[in-house]
Amino acid sequence: MKLATLELNGRLTVGVVDPDAGLVRILDGVLGDAGSDMLALIRRYDELKAGLEERGETVALSDVRILAPIPRPPRNVICVGKNYHAHAEEFTRSGFDAGARIEEAIPTRPIVFSKPPETVIADGEPIRYPHGVSDSIDYEAELGVVIGRGGRGIKRADAYGHVFGYTIVNDVTARDLQSQHKQWFLGKGLDTFCPMGPWLVTADEVDPENLALRCWVNDELRQDANTRDLIFDIPTLIETISAGITLVPGDVIATGTPVGVGIGFDPPKFLRPGDRVTIEIGGLGRLSNVLA
Ligand code: MG
Repeated sequence: MKLATLELNGRLTVGVVDPDAGLVRILDGVLGDAGSDMLALIRRYDELKAGLEERGETVALSDVRILAPIPRPPRNVICVGKNYHAHAEEFTRSGFDAGARIEEAIPTRPIVFSKPPETVIADGEPIRYPHGVSDSIDYEAELGVVIGRGGRGIKRADAYGHVFGYTIVNDVTARDLQSQHKQWFLGKGLDTFCPMGPWLVTADEVDPENLALRCWVNDELRQDANTRDLIFDIPTLIETISAGITLVPGDVIATGTPVGVGIGFDPPKFLRPGDRVTIEIGGLGRLSNVLA
């Protein structure tokens, strides 16, 4: 199922989207005491899912406003850096890490950082260009993993049992801040720097280890990869992160971006106001945002 958070006649709710038919089935009323937001649905999905297939009023997709699938995650979006071989190499070659040698480009353990929940915006919403704060804004197309069942000490073999679904994330980055401040929080955490969506697709409909991922800036194809090329796969990421941090329902893990980001070009191709970044991941839809 494609599950969206949406606004209908001023009401916030969730629905099952059929993009081909241009329809969305509204799930409030179906959820009852669970409330009408995605986090409530995720927490009670196992008991509710049998009733979700056919119930609810159907309306035109054009009559609703689609928000990010999890408009306000329960806490910071968890992100993984340098998780595709060719991207790790382009990043090192760009000179970002002064003195780093190309032979050392590939991390031996996952690099994990986070973005504040307030960075999340929906498909179609503007990414705010941070005038006077940064002038090296970059895009990063990524597969986002949405946690369904929380847990601590999750083993690789059990990891997929904790995944609720998948979505698209643009890990927008201010490269100058990312570099100058050493820790990545400022460079990754500016307001509106986490476009997410357009919806999430439940795990039963996705093979996350074989998804085509493409990213355009305006009409130019910049990233064209497949999630099979992740250095650390999803079970490894969940095992690593949950070893000492309890994952909770609704946590989002952005799994890293492939080769083709702006800083990888010589000279770099950073984003300017008016540029549109569009990301497509097979079966997950299309996430498109303009810098404004
Ligand atoms: Mg990233």
